[in-house]
Amino acid sequence: MSNSKESSDYVLNKRYELDVVYLLRSANPAYKNSAYIGTTPTPQKRLRMHNGELAAGAKRTKSRRPWEFVLLVYGFPSKIAAFQFEWAWQHPHRTRHIDSYSYQKRDNQIDTKLRVLSDLFCSKSYCRWPLHLHIMISLDEFNKISKKSSPISNLPKNFRITQGSFDTYLSETGNMYSFADINGIPKDLRYASQFNKFEKIKQKNPKCNLCGGIIDIMNHETYLTCLSTSCMYTSHILCLANLFLAQEKSEKNHLSNDEPLLPISGRCPDCEQTLRWGDLIDTMHLRRALLE
Ligand SMILES: [Zn+2]
Ligand SMILES: [Zn+2]
Repeated sequence: MSNSKESSDYVLNKRYELDVVYLLRSANPAYKNSAYIGTTPTPQKRLRMHNGELAAGAKRTKSRRPWEFVLLVYGFPSKIAAFQFEWAWQHPHRTRHIDSYSYQKRDNQIDTKLRVLSDLFCSKSYCRWPLHLHIMISLDEFNKISKKSSPISNLPKNFRITQGSFDTYLSETGNMYSFADINGIPKDLRYASQFNKFEKIKQKNPKCNLCGGIIDIMNHETYLTCLSTSCMYTSHILCLANLFLAQEKSEKNHLSNDEPLLPISGRCPDCEQTLRWGDLIDTMHLRRALLE
């Protein structure tokens, strides 16, 4: 137990770096409404690079300095997923996720970028993801620049949204793995529980409870564990997604004929607790931060 206590203190004190996709706008009057999209695990540092306060990188944005954040999007299940989202947002005229015909190449206007974001959030590919949108300008200003298509006017219900300064963002993400309680389990206990489960799973030949296939325990992004502290249910991420999607389908939780790629929530087959997909993904990131 002392081991897990030390590890949890370590993670509590260490800021786990989330991959954030960000939108900047130029505050240079000559480039009013000019926008830029990028991905970084350290947004504060990245902004200083764009503004030339730190050396290296960000050549393409040099002439339009100074820059300021409009918003951050995070909650991606992996670094690759964040990059794919960034690419789609940067290339609306080419991406297959949205109606690309309504967009033109090299349109870097801020209102267009917000319209693309709105389309992506509502797209079949992304509407079920556990994404978090953090707006860094006032909501009045935000509504003004997004004109007719604000990404917050019809945000999918599983998305989280916050607004405020960089400090607000940091305190939000500092609590990323607590979200108050998840299924009634406070933060400290979740840290200890993830550590203990990992130690237990490691001792036997870890297998997926759904397909029986081997689990590569150091490859944290490939498997999930139940959120209940006493339940050892462990499965591949894709196996559990398929099970939850089948549960949702049988309960007719989604009414359209489209087959979603990701579930919103489901029941653990062992302890029968309801588990939110976003909470499972957060917990997976927690385990990775704790044990990698
Ligand atoms: Zn499996
Ligand atoms: Zn369970």
